[in-house]
Amino acid sequence: SMSKGEGMQSTVKEKSKEIIPDYDGLFNEEKKIGNKKNKGFLAKIILMNIKPLALSIFIYLFQVLPVVLVPLCTADIIDTVTIAIEQGITNAQIIRLVLAISVALVSILTNVPTTVLRWRVASKMLRRTSAGIRLAMVKKLQSLSITYHKDMQTGRVQSKFLKDMETFDMFMSTLTNGLTLNIVSLLMFTAIALYRNIYVSLFFVVIIPMNVFLRTAFYKKIRLAHHDYRVNTENMSAKMTGMIEMIPVTKSHGLENVEISTLGSSISRVEKSGRAMDKTNASFGAWAFVVNNGLSVVCLAFCAYMAVIDKMSIGEVILFQSMFTQISGIVSAIVNSLPQIYSGREAVCSLAELMHVNEVEVSLGKQTIPRVKGQVEFENVCYKYPNTDKLVVKNLNFSVNEGECIAIVGPSGSGKSTLINMIIGFLLPTSGEVKIDGRETTSFNLSEYRHHISVVPQNSILFSGTIKENITYGVSDYTKEQLEEVLEMANINEFIKDLPEGINTIVGEHGDKLSGGQRQRISIARALIRKPHILILDEATSALDNLSEYHVQKAISSAVKNRTTFIVAHRLSTIRDADRIIFMDEGECVEMGTYDELMAKKGKFFELKTLNDMTSKKVEQELG
Ligand code: ADP
Repeated sequence: SMSKGEGMQSTVKEKSKEIIPDYDGLFNEEKKIGNKKNKGFLAKIILMNIKPLALSIFIYLFQVLPVVLVPLCTADIIDTVTIAIEQGITNAQIIRLVLAISVALVSILTNVPTTVLRWRVASKMLRRTSAGIRLAMVKKLQSLSITYHKDMQTGRVQSKFLKDMETFDMFMSTLTNGLTLNIVSLLMFTAIALYRNIYVSLFFVVIIPMNVFLRTAFYKKIRLAHHDYRVNTENMSAKMTGMIEMIPVTKSHGLENVEISTLGSSISRVEKSGRAMDKTNASFGAWAFVVNNGLSVVCLAFCAYMAVIDKMSIGEVILFQSMFTQISGIVSAIVNSLPQIYSGREAVCSLAELMHVNEVEVSLGKQTIPRVKGQVEFENVCYKYPNTDKLVVKNLNFSVNEGECIAIVGPSGSGKSTLINMIIGFLLPTSGEVKIDGRETTSFNLSEYRHHISVVPQNSILFSGTIKENITYGVSDYTKEQLEEVLEMANINEFIKDLPEGINTIVGEHGDKLSGGQRQRISIARALIRKPHILILDEATSALDNLSEYHVQKAISSAVKNRTTFIVAHRLSTIRDADRIIFMDEGECVEMGTYDELMAKKGKFFELKTLNDMTSKKVEQELG
């Protein structure tokens, strides 16, 4: 649930400007780097962090020093001691021993500052990247059209934001702290080995192709296993969200077991794919162990032989053995981090999906709308939903003056919501023009335009917070008097006077502690406090009891004053009070006029009206 205190938004904005880096370009396809769709995404992130990444590697060269120096010192100490035991110790040897031990100790000590410093650089880079991507994701989601959000499952988006980001963080950490640094140490060790003994270094060199071979053998299996697991987890998450949304329906129909079994099969798919993934990972890890340790023993045998034929000192045998352990440790660390890299790549793909969504409302460079008077005009407007062939709105022509109240009526599916959505600018006409104050909706900055209009949707959407927070959502510059006025107009005082906390009562999640009529009135108050010049009201179809109906109607009546209003009307009182009625049928405006005019005409509106009256009378009779 959200918390949307007033003033909070502005502070968040200031702070985010200060600390969170700008990753907006990441979700924007234009700045694509490389030709492969997801590589571009990762490449962008790496390019943006190239400096700290280089710095981190540079510091690592010092951090890794003891790992290299200690085995070298150890070998030297052992050789010195071996000779001293055979021939008696000399002063020069004592100095050499002290020196070797000191070098080892000092280099070990330097590990504290180098490690701390490098982690500071790396951690800053990683955390900032992750914060930047998260914020960019939020911005992208906000920039997407309402149509996209209607089609996208909430669970999927949430899974991207939480789970994929977590995996991505791990992946970035592996990449920058693990992989890159391991490659650096691998190069260092190989160089030393080559310098000390060319034959032994051949063993070292063999580890790499062996591991690469192993990796290739398992590559496809591991990748598929991880992909399966991700897809199944995402589905489960989406199902879970759906389940929670459906709970009132489920419980009231006694369908708990249906939901349990649906979720059950989803969960079991996650379990199965998880186990398959674990199995693949395990056998891969085991083979890597066998290869590396097997090679190590073979290398030891070779060194032992060299020592026996007096081509190698004892110290060197130990040095190579410890270097071998180090190198094979590094190589298997690299190889073991591959599963994480695969998971990470999956997460990157999943995040990049968002990058490819193009249903963005373009506002940049469009006309600004400093104010709206409320004159609305439809000129030959037609609308067809994408991927369909049917015009759901046909040749709409009408002009609405400032301050007029228009009721839109018609059977369900006749195009009322589509018409409304074109006024809000959620939909742009397929042909024809929708003009606000004489300017086309396609030409201006819609997000800014919407600051001047208010929409009361059919289902009032409340977040868990107080009544006051719900009313003032997104508005910070209101006075106490304005709030009072709105409470009065929306007829909210009528019910909050009975609540112990009054306007500061918490509405509960989605407002479910309130009645339908009360929620609608809060929704109307939310619309009014924004002082809109155009008000769009989608009346709830669900019947309210007479008293609630009366209170809501009172709220609507005062809301429509002094502004242009469009109401998708279901209530007789609303229809009667409207300046004009637009009667929609199959996407066309078949009749337009005042209530009396349309009734006198005895056309379609009259028909629907009489039919409605008959049904409601019948219902009344049946109910007694
Ligand atoms: P009303 O609000 O009068 O019930 P709508 O404007 O919602 O009517 O719908 C008009 C027509 O457009 C209907 O036939 C409906 O099936 C179709 N429609 C609505 N939304 C979509 C959509 N997103 N994609 C395709 N067709 C749609």
